[in-house]
Amino acid sequence: MRILSSVMECMPCKECFVCDLILQEQAMKRKGCASNLRLLCCSCGWSMEFFTSAQIGRFFEVNRRFVYASRSVGCGRAAGKRFCGLINMPPPPRPTPYARHNKEILRAVKKISLETMRDTAREIHDIKPGSDEGIARCGVSVDGTWQRRGFSSLNGCVSAISMDTGKVVDVEPLSKVCIKCREHENDPDTPETTAWRADHRASCKANFKGSAPAMEPEGALRMFQRSVDLHKLQYDEYYGDGDSKSYSLVKDVYQVYDIQVQKKECVGHVQKRLGTALRKLKKEKKGMGGKGRLTDAMIDRLQNYYGIAIRSNSGDLAAMKKAIYASLFHCASSADSNYHGHCPEGPESWCGFQRDKVNRTNTFKHGTGLPLDVREEIKPIYKRLSEDSLLSKCLDGKTQNQNESLNGMVWERVPKGCLLVLKYCSWGFMMLSLTLILVQEQLLKCLRVLEFPR
Ligand SMILES: [Zn+2]
Ligand SMILES: [Zn+2]
Ligand SMILES: [Zn+2]
Repeated sequence: MRILSSVMECMPCKECFVCDLILQEQAMKRKGCASNLRLLCCSCGWSMEFFTSAQIGRFFEVNRRFVYASRSVGCGRAAGKRFCGLINMPPPPRPTPYARHNKEILRAVKKISLETMRDTAREIHDIKPGSDEGIARCGVSVDGTWQRRGFSSLNGCVSAISMDTGKVVDVEPLSKVCIKCREHENDPDTPETTAWRADHRASCKANFKGSAPAMEPEGALRMFQRSVDLHKLQYDEYYGDGDSKSYSLVKDVYQVYDIQVQKKECVGHVQKRLGTALRKLKKEKKGMGGKGRLTDAMIDRLQNYYGIAIRSNSGDLAAMKKAIYASLFHCASSADSNYHGHCPEGPESWCGFQRDKVNRTNTFKHGTGLPLDVREEIKPIYKRLSEDSLLSKCLDGKTQNQNESLNGMVWERVPKGCLLVLKYCSWGFMMLSLTLILVQEQLLKCLRVLEFPR
């Protein structure tokens, strides 16, 4: 204000040409972050009013952007207000208009994300030719995630990501709570209450009853059931965590499609299973740990090599199996006991020992290795985790990393322990977060939609 005023003081009035202009803020007329300023000529009384932000329809751009920005960084109104105070800015809009902005942003983001998912489906149709009825088949990676902070696992969402394009094709946000229902929770059983309940059922935000672990199967099922109607797609390959019940639910119980759905494993998850099994062995069996034995560092190393063995031999089951055992022998080798005979030979080998041999160099440093008794204990675990039935599901070496990154970004945008989340469930938090699958171009599109009122 001070800087602006000093600039104005040097300007002549457009009516009387005297340099006697003053700039005032009209605090009563302020709308959130948009201040109302008044330019007044003290000499002739000419005045002019303006807002510090562009007005689009009934709202001010700065306010809408403020609400959108605070959602994008995962904070709500209260945090936004504190931010404004500290940075010496006018406070954000009051709760009611703030909520209205939220709702409007939600509408825009929902629209964009639905469009994005439709585009993804179209892309899949371009890659994979459909049947006579125009139905195409594709693989999806399904993963669920829950809100853990604050309201423990009352909200969650399950997403299906195309294995062909790496983009989200469908999401199912699930919520166990409805803020309206909560408000009426303790109402007496009167005819009015019954009427309210009947009336509310259609708009109730709680769309899931059951435990948090049951959310993923339920969400997966819903997405499988509507895939043909929604996208003319049949998800014929199902990537999911091995422990998840979603797959059997989709496949056996409901027989959603008239085709067989193939279960596939995420290499990342399978890889973790080796680490889990080894850690369990170390904990339960005495004398496994200790220096030169099954240390945490050794477990990480084994797990890492196991993953590499799967990933670098996609499409070749026999080679994959061989590489898994080679990785065990490689890690079990030490200066005294050499088992590098199983490792691939040649200058390109991942095994440093074999590389040294060809290149006549001396760069490889022997590890501590694993003694015989530890190796004997580990063997059954390797046997189990290199079975054909398991490895054949990992043959294409794909992971669910894209789901994990999506999940991370979802919660990044949810205000911590905020009731707002409940208010706008089930689409609210999910849709706001879906902007992440939008690339830059689409993000801009999203902001453009925001600029136009309904
Ligand atoms: Zn004047
Ligand atoms: Zn409700
Ligand atoms: Zn080796």
